Amino acid sequence: MNKISLNTQILLGTLLGVLLGLWFALLGQESSITQNSLYAAKLVSTLFIDLLRMILIPLVFTSIVVGVANLRSHQQMNRVWQGALIFFFSTMVLAVVLGLTTANLLQPGGGLQIAMFQDAMQGFQATQMSLPDFFAHFLHSLFQNPIAALAQSNVLAVVIFALLLGIALVVGGERYRNILTLMQEFLELILMLVGWIMRLAPFGIMALLLQLVATQDTSLLATLIKFVAIVMGTTLLHGMVVLPLILYLTTGMTPVKFWLGAREALITAFATSSSAATLPVTLRCAEQHLHVKRDVAGFVIPLGATMNMDGTALYEAVAALFIANLVGIELSLMQQMIVFLTAMLAAIGAPGIPSAGMVTMAVVLQSVGLPVEAIAILLPIDRILDTVRTMVNVEGDLVGSLVVQKWIKQDELDK
Ligand code: ASP
Repeated sequence: MNKISLNTQILLGTLLGVLLGLWFALLGQESSITQNSLYAAKLVSTLFIDLLRMILIPLVFTSIVVGVANLRSHQQMNRVWQGALIFFFSTMVLAVVLGLTTANLLQPGGGLQIAMFQDAMQGFQATQMSLPDFFAHFLHSLFQNPIAALAQSNVLAVVIFALLLGIALVVGGERYRNILTLMQEFLELILMLVGWIMRLAPFGIMALLLQLVATQDTSLLATLIKFVAIVMGTTLLHGMVVLPLILYLTTGMTPVKFWLGAREALITAFATSSSAATLPVTLRCAEQHLHVKRDVAGFVIPLGATMNMDGTALYEAVAALFIANLVGIELSLMQQMIVFLTAMLAAIGAPGIPSAGMVTMAVVLQSVGLPVEAIAILLPIDRILDTVRTMVNVEGDLVGSLVVQKWIKQDELDK
């Protein structure tokens, strides 16, 4: 097994997971083979995700502190964070515009009515989250006691604290050299652990995909097939055309080269539906395969994993229009502008965990007066939609790190 590269093992795991999943779906849920296999798959996939989560917080913390502290000159530091934010923001704008345009053209949900889904909606408790509440909550979640944030895996608050500590290390300079060295060595050790965990990735991914395929509710999927196809198609368009084009135009890197370097992270994102759980793999791909400098990757990628979600932003917009069609409301241009803004906010505020976008979607729906209960219709198919949107979320972070790196290099050359 050791002779086969990890990349190939992951591809084999993916293939085998899908095939076995199909086989178990054919055998049916009652068969004891299916039940036992699903049980085993659950154990393996939980172990894999637990290990990724175990390493997540120490990794985010050290990689951001070291990343920021090593961007020694203020000039360079400014370039990186400005570049990252401009990139995140503009690609999310593109994603939402793409989503709104296709949804307006293809009108998902036209012909279906919300009454058809009464069963699904019964018993669904909508979380009340108005826009001002959401905003206040978001702002509050940024600044937390760092020890509590570390302990509770509150990634956003850890990112903010690590950023501030990194900046303090830059400002403090030589006097705090030892702490920086300590952090650097700690980061190296954590990355070594990530390497070990990755050996399990082919099995973890196989187990996750097997469960996904074997337990998918196909009847609901068939009713909503047009919506699912529009969401997946548009998300893939963004991921396979828009982002690679931006990458090619700014850095000259071809899509094939990018895919070869990024595939471990993209497949893990697809299988886990979590940008946060994928983060250790994303960082590894950025540094080892795509050759992004550790300082840049260590800053852009963890920040992107919590903020930059093109797939989610696009999804929120399409889903809002879909629900409007279901209830027979035509959203005016003004209302669509509101959807545009709230979809961006909801994506930025969504943590990188499975189905997070579903929860923050309440904000988008409420902002234009659509029934939040309608989320219940989307919940059963969310696991499948979440695969592609998380993959594109993670792709955006990787492309972002490459573009920012290019930008700083250009800046240095210009001087
Ligand atoms: N699962 C997505 C992610 O981790 C977030 C979402 O639900 O849209 O990136």
